[in-house]
Amino acid sequence: MKKEKLVVIGNGMAPGKVLEVLLEEAPDRYKITIFNAESQVNYNRIMLSPVLTGETEFEEIIIHGDGWYIKHGITLYKGHKIVNINRDAQTVTSEHGVVESYDKLMIATGSYPFIIPVPGHKLAGVLSFRDLDDVHAMMLAAKLAARLW
Ligand SMILES: Cc1cc2nc3c(=O)[nH]c(=O)nc-3n(C[C@H](O)[C@H](O)[C@H](O)COP(=O)(O)OP(=O)(O)OC[C@H]3O[C@@H](n4cnc5c(N)ncnc54)[C@H](O)[C@@H]3O)c2cc1C
Repeated sequence: MKKEKLVVIGNGMAPGKVLEVLLEEAPDRYKITIFNAESQVNYNRIMLSPVLTGETEFEEIIIHGDGWYIKHGITLYKGHKIVNINRDAQTVTSEHGVVESYDKLMIATGSYPFIIPVPGHKLAGVLSFRDLDDVHAMMLAAKLAARLW
């Protein structure tokens, strides 16, 4: 039987769990392709705080490493934000120009942090805390700030 094409937008903890169950219940039903704006594999976002404090390494909070996607025949586009969904043609397009068609589309784009627009909110060092890039930005800001003192 020909596999249906399942495209997932976003690679956070929610679709990670959905796919685990799906692969258990119907391992041969879908050919799965994931597009993620972040350039990471699936990781436990909740554990970014200990990564920030240095108690944990990023590698320790990975839920699905590269091998998991290979094992399940899943194509993962890291660092590919989806910028267009064409519902008539049933395609998605990434910001890098990759076009993928789908039979089923799962949108799991989570949320974005909001910085209150008070005076100074655009100053260097005013940062949000959502992903690994934010953790690296905070670590760098802390280092630079330490040099001023
Ligand atoms: C530091 C921290 C601590 C937390 N602690 C807790 C806690 O203790 N308990 C709790 O319940 N929750 C906690 N949360 C919240 C929890 O992490 C989120 O609710 C959960 O990760 C949501 O999962 P998700 O898969 O829905 O979305 P997300 O984890 O937000 O993932 C969405 C993904 O989609 C990607 N994406 C967005 N737009 C696009 C696009 N157009 N194309 C491609 N990809 C896209 C994003 O880059 C992201 O990788 C915490 C969050 C943070 C940041």
